[in-house]
Amino acid sequence: MTSKQNIDDSPVDFAEKIIMDVKNSKDEGVLKCVQCGMCTSTCPAARHSDYNPRDIIERVLAGDESILQDDLIWNCFYCYTCHSVCPVGNSVCEVNQILKQIAISRQIGYDKLYEYMGFADSYFTAAIGAIPEIFFDDIKNDVPGWWEFRTNLGEIREELELDPPLMPPKETIDEVSKILTITGFKEKIEKIRASQEAEK
Ligand code: SF4
Ligand code: SF4
Repeated sequence: MTSKQNIDDSPVDFAEKIIMDVKNSKDEGVLKCVQCGMCTSTCPAARHSDYNPRDIIERVLAGDESILQDDLIWNCFYCYTCHSVCPVGNSVCEVNQILKQIAISRQIGYDKLYEYMGFADSYFTAAIGAIPEIFFDDIKNDVPGWWEFRTNLGEIREELELDPPLMPPKETIDEVSKILTITGFKEKIEKIRASQEAEK
């Protein structure tokens, strides 16, 4: 007789939680994973670290919640390459977003997020995500011309007659700040920052 595992049976409760999450846009794509490894063969994070997207899905389907504690999940940077190549419509990218959100809700990974607090702050000051200042030196070293481009962006845009201005108007910034406050984003950021600063 063929063995069958229902998605409401333990040990796949964890997988069901991932599948039912609002961020998981594909119809049970996680359950269709055939472990072909296409995602891993094209994933830039896998190329440069021990991170393995195929393994992420295998562990999720095995109900292995220890994955939430695994530092490797933070190596995925949501480029969506795996999403575009998966032959069965799965998205490791989305699964990782869900895993990280569950981890954050259990106060895991705050140390990984702390470096990106400047990115979160920029939504309140500019209504858009901006590269945190702590990365400027590294980018200056790695990308020749980036700093000159960044500091002269206003003039470059003017010269190219680009319109409207790069920064959104104040009303937009206020509106975005309000949404981020009402939806709890601000509170989450403050909690992460406070926890990490208390450990210093
Ligand atoms: S490409 Fe899709 S089917 Fe293949 S291992 Fe990755 S998630 Fe599974
Ligand atoms: S989204 Fe994440 S898992 Fe997918 S290819 Fe990009 S880095 Fe790899």
